[in-house]
Amino acid sequence: MLTSAAESLLASAAEPLLAVGALQSGYGKIRVLHGIDFRMSAGEVVALLGPNGAGKTTMLRALSGLLPVSSGHVRFDGRDITNATPREAARAGLVHVIEGHRVFTQISVTDNLLLAGYDLPRSERAGRVEEALSFFPEIAEKRHERGGALSGGQQQMLTVAQGLVRRPRLLMLDEPSAGLSPVLVDRVLNVIAQLRKQGTAVLLVEQLLEKALAAADRVYALVQGNIVLEASTAEANLPQRLERAYFGHESHALTP
Ligand code: ATP
Repeated sequence: MLTSAAESLLASAAEPLLAVGALQSGYGKIRVLHGIDFRMSAGEVVALLGPNGAGKTTMLRALSGLLPVSSGHVRFDGRDITNATPREAARAGLVHVIEGHRVFTQISVTDNLLLAGYDLPRSERAGRVEEALSFFPEIAEKRHERGGALSGGQQQMLTVAQGLVRRPRLLMLDEPSAGLSPVLVDRVLNVIAQLRKQGTAVLLVEQLLEKALAAADRVYALVQGNIVLEASTAEANLPQRLERAYFGHESHALTP
């Protein structure tokens, strides 16, 4: 008899939660992603790393339907979601917390969260809002205040909470630490650890290398629109390997 851990391992080997093959995308005629192969299992935390302008944000946008996929495929939870709309992707369980997204400052924290779950069954919405707030005690305390009454960092965490209202199977976070104080960065990382424990996968774009490596099970490095490194965070010398990958040496070993 298999243990549940072994069963989930087998299930993820059979069909990963996210399977991206030969993905190309960009802006109009400008191609940014040159054939990305990428996989994630259920409950896995993966950091997508790479220098500025490598295409990390572009990749998240292409996965969540904000940018057209010009070729290749995106399969999520056993379904083809290539070129699905953002709403369809979110309904399938793939939720993208957009970098620099702003909350509505004139309505309450609770209403911001209710709006994020506008298309959920009415009977479930209040419960989902409470569930999302349970990750962020400081925000829960201010649930009746206007979004604009929160600090910048708290507003940023509210955008993560908005993503959680949808109870994602995969949450994609684009530089969640940007502009946050060290205490709030740790809070966000702690939320990622909690999500992982409950089986929610997280794809994290993050500039803080050390923090990203501590939070993630695996990393991919993206350089000039190509994946040049894929590794478990348990591997030795990973920061050095990443640095080499960024500067082009490791990519030769990885490109078939
Ligand atoms: P950063 O860490 O700086 O956010 P990134 O890895 O997320 O970088 P992207 O923002 O995906 O990189 O940008 C990849 C490339 O696409 C860059 O060359 C950028 O100039 C270009 N790009 C980004 N947004 C647009 C746009 N709206 N129109 C045209 N080109 C764009």
